[in-house]
Amino acid sequence: MNTSSKADLPPPAPRTYDPDVLAKEIIERLTYRIGKDAKVAKPHDWLTATILVIRDRIIDKWMESTRKTYETSAKRVYYLSLEFLIGRLLRDAISNLGLMNEIRDALSSLGVDLIDIAGLEPDAALGNGGLGRLAACFMESMATVDIPAYGYGIRYMHGLFRQEMAEGWQVELPETWLAHGNPWEFERRESSYEVGFGGSVETLGGYDEAPRFVWKPAERVIATAYDTPVVGWRANRVNTLRLWTARPIDPILLDAFNAGDHIGALRESNKAEALARVLYPADATPAGQELRLRQEFFFSSASLQDILRRHMQQYNDLRLLPDKVSIQLNDTHPAVSIAELIRLLCDIHGLDFDTAWDITRRTFSYTNHTLLPEALESWPVPLFERLLPRHMQIVYAINAKILIEARKERGLSDDEIRKISLIEESGERRVRMGNLAFVGSHSTNGVSALHTDLMKETVFADLHKLYPDRINNKTNGITPRRWLMQCNPRLTALLRETIGDAFMDNAEALQALDRYADDPQFQGHFSQVKRDNKVRLANLVAQRMGIRIDPSAIFDIQIKRIHEYKRQLLNIIEAVALYDQIRSHPERDWVPRVKLFAGKAAPSYHNAKLIIKLANDVARVINNDPAVRGLLKVVFIPNYNVSLAEIMVPAADLSEQISTAGMEASGTGNMKFALNGALTIGTLDGANVEMRDWVGEENMVIFGMTAEQVAEARAGEYNPRAIIEGSSELSQALSAIASGVFSPDDRNRFESLVEGLYSHDWFMVAADFDAYAKAQRDVDALWLDSAAWYSRTIRNTARMGWFSSDRAIRQYAKDIWRAG
Ligand SMILES: *Cc1c(COP(=O)(O)O)cnc(C)c1O
Repeated sequence: MNTSSKADLPPPAPRTYDPDVLAKEIIERLTYRIGKDAKVAKPHDWLTATILVIRDRIIDKWMESTRKTYETSAKRVYYLSLEFLIGRLLRDAISNLGLMNEIRDALSSLGVDLIDIAGLEPDAALGNGGLGRLAACFMESMATVDIPAYGYGIRYMHGLFRQEMAEGWQVELPETWLAHGNPWEFERRESSYEVGFGGSVETLGGYDEAPRFVWKPAERVIATAYDTPVVGWRANRVNTLRLWTARPIDPILLDAFNAGDHIGALRESNKAEALARVLYPADATPAGQELRLRQEFFFSSASLQDILRRHMQQYNDLRLLPDKVSIQLNDTHPAVSIAELIRLLCDIHGLDFDTAWDITRRTFSYTNHTLLPEALESWPVPLFERLLPRHMQIVYAINAKILIEARKERGLSDDEIRKISLIEESGERRVRMGNLAFVGSHSTNGVSALHTDLMKETVFADLHKLYPDRINNKTNGITPRRWLMQCNPRLTALLRETIGDAFMDNAEALQALDRYADDPQFQGHFSQVKRDNKVRLANLVAQRMGIRIDPSAIFDIQIKRIHEYKRQLLNIIEAVALYDQIRSHPERDWVPRVKLFAGKAAPSYHNAKLIIKLANDVARVINNDPAVRGLLKVVFIPNYNVSLAEIMVPAADLSEQISTAGMEASGTGNMKFALNGALTIGTLDGANVEMRDWVGEENMVIFGMTAEQVAEARAGEYNPRAIIEGSSELSQALSAIASGVFSPDDRNRFESLVEGLYSHDWFMVAADFDAYAKAQRDVDALWLDSAAWYSRTIRNTARMGWFSSDRAIRQYAKDIWRAG
């Protein structure tokens, strides 16, 4: 260490926001960092140069935040997530720094348009959907409410696939978001850790000593950190998103290479790099499954080693860990961290098991995101044991502790013991990651009030009985910076003019808008904003798909992962029924409607892919039938991602949140739409229930079965065939689909899909169809009374402030982390 050197000088003065200086710096970066003359620079070069200049301003705040955390000995929060669906960062960073006008002016003085280059930034799709987007909103909110936090995940080279359509079928292509480099990130070679797999465990120690365990992995890879700064609103704080990439210990096996085996020489390298190549490798094959477990352990181990290193450097006392560190597990994907922390504490740092267990439980907390049985993670014991032999021992040790306690102190029955065990014993033995996460944490939270209640009654019923204080609710939220201020600048400007700026720092101040809901002049402005946003979307649809849609029609939007429980199928069948009606009753005054869809299906999810094809087939027929006279259009926009959502959400009149009640844990898409002044048509599911409480039932269109009714129907004798036969609208629509009206090239294409509805209809499409169709006609009637329509939609915007992720994060900080 230098005892006295220039390193001790105060840090450089923060950089200025003066547009002239910004312009000069952009040219400087273009010249010396990118090596391009302004005269020949391509738009991508301007983008990179601009990001580099903004990044310097972020670095000033970043270092300030880090120093503050260190000096105040504040507790650090670590958010472990296999997904971060962050989208583009440029506009977010500029806006949160308060640099928008300055950068726009600086660029325009150089003849460059900010909007043009911002649109070139790739959309970092390091997530599947809601869970990953939640992690991104939470990162931004933690910086905003000034919580020292790190996000930990994997720097997938290809992220989730890019979706294209080939004759209406989904085709998956690799996403190449790193093709032009990534100027936001900093590679931290010095933050590298070894992560092991396989091998064996040696037991050391004499007969009168406690045994010590040493894991001797058969394989090792290096995890190297890449840091991306996360800027909070008004740059109050800048936190770090630390993503790991995998490297081989030996990049090339020189002996093999020199012996002429050029491919074999790279085997280690390829194997290591496969770890961080794609998100969610198709898990249909055993090899794919193993890769997924490897990814989970890889990022868990690297993160835990990093967390302990940072803690020891500052406090040098592992017993202080629960006071200085909170680790939040975003679903069970990082749950193996619990066993890894115990291993590090016992095997590397020499603590005894009971002390390590106590520290671990007080440090971790877990968020559950799903009750779907097929989505509850578990790993075959033989696989787990082969890949992580020491962790398998630790899981058994935890299990013994928990089960003995449950039996001796609580007197649980065999049946109850079976349900709380970390090992599934029926059929193939498996490690239950949900149970591991639950028992290894001091808090298990659901993501909406309904989901939390259902958790207590279903997946965790027995664990809840054993630990009645552990389950708590933290309803999800969305960041109003991205999902209002940035994606909807027109509405933001109107809100500022009308109610002032308070809502920009506290979303609940949007309440002040309530008294303008019936004001005809304000309604006029509000509807004009909506219309402008619809024109923007119509232009995108025209450009990208060559389909013309009319901005004066109702824009009815359903965008989310394609899944049977989310019931895109219900929406499509209703479109078919409406199509029938329009043709049969041309004399009626039909309200023009555009039904827009977007979303990706998991590559191995057959029915979801078939639903995409159905949407496209139905769209082709309806959009080209002159008898429809343009009263109904159906559009499926490919490659749903954050950037597409940012254009579609502000343009929606109607938000489709129609999942089978009890199956959507929370939803966050529902919140984005309502905040931007769309009317929700939805079931009483997930956070829709609480939205109804805040927004008012009269300002939503709620229909269909409740979660309780769904559970009853499933347990009883639900007979979808009888329901279908009793509804002429539904049976006609289904027979059109099944008989090939929309698929003349392959008349049987959708037969199995329709047959599924007749035979079991697990997702209650038939049961809810009539109520849904009626609710849609109620929407039409409301649309025709435009004062009533805008009164309701304005009240949605006014009353959605509670759903800010700032509120959610404050609740986590107070109740779970005791931080900030
Ligand atoms: C918000 C969001 C989601 C989650 O949508 P849900 O309707 O809650 O399922 C998924 N993907 C993207 C890109 C999002 O922005």
